[in-house]
Amino acid sequence: MVEPWLEEAAATYNRSSEEKRDGYMALVLLPTSHLENILHWAFEALPDEILIGFDPNHEAPISTHIIDTYTGVEHRDDLFSGQGYVIGEPHLVNRGDAFSVHHVPEEWVDELFANDRGTRGARFTHWLHTHPNCVAIPSTADADAAQHTSGIDMILGIEFSPEGPLPWFEDAEGVRRRLQPKEEGTKKGWGSWRRKRQRPILGRAKTGHQIHGLELIAFHRTGVGVNVVLVDDDGWPHGLPKIT
Ligand SMILES: [Zn+2]
Repeated sequence: MVEPWLEEAAATYNRSSEEKRDGYMALVLLPTSHLENILHWAFEALPDEILIGFDPNHEAPISTHIIDTYTGVEHRDDLFSGQGYVIGEPHLVNRGDAFSVHHVPEEWVDELFANDRGTRGARFTHWLHTHPNCVAIPSTADADAAQHTSGIDMILGIEFSPEGPLPWFEDAEGVRRRLQPKEEGTKKGWGSWRRKRQRPILGRAKTGHQIHGLELIAFHRTGVGVNVVLVDDDGWPHGLPKIT
């Protein structure tokens, strides 16, 4: 069972995915229960980032109703490998800093994979890595690592406290996709000094950390954004009315 705050955040995130659908050519479906597992691993690995590999779940094709709901006029169905299927089980592949997290140990790569498949061995179709206390916007190292991805790359930004050596960093340019239970207010003048003092608490990690915010984005190696939709264990988007 996914915790209620995360399920509520997922429903709000999906509403935003629907509203912004014309900005995306494709979508991926990520089960929220996988996201919850990844969050747990992420807190256990602090202060490191973690790298997760996934393959598509070929037993879970995405219905046309869902595709129509979350993609717009620019939709194409041949953008990446594994498109059209819900993302399968997450596998914890590596941990490290913003650079080394993408460099899967060489003996591992040599043993299992051919040499020309990039720093991550390209074993999995899709990848996700975490940004502890940093916005989910790709760095140059992230963009480089994604060049060998056949599916898509995701970044999960996690804002938490106590911060340890990593105070929240958001000085980066790019599209932000927040994962919060409630829509963001439109209050002006909500200065960062004030936000720092009154940060919301979305949930608590098993490590005892307070979670103040989550951000999740996906992108294709060409740089185009991919719309993420969070689904229950039946592959149905949180917050989308069921059709019978
Ligand atoms: Zn990164």
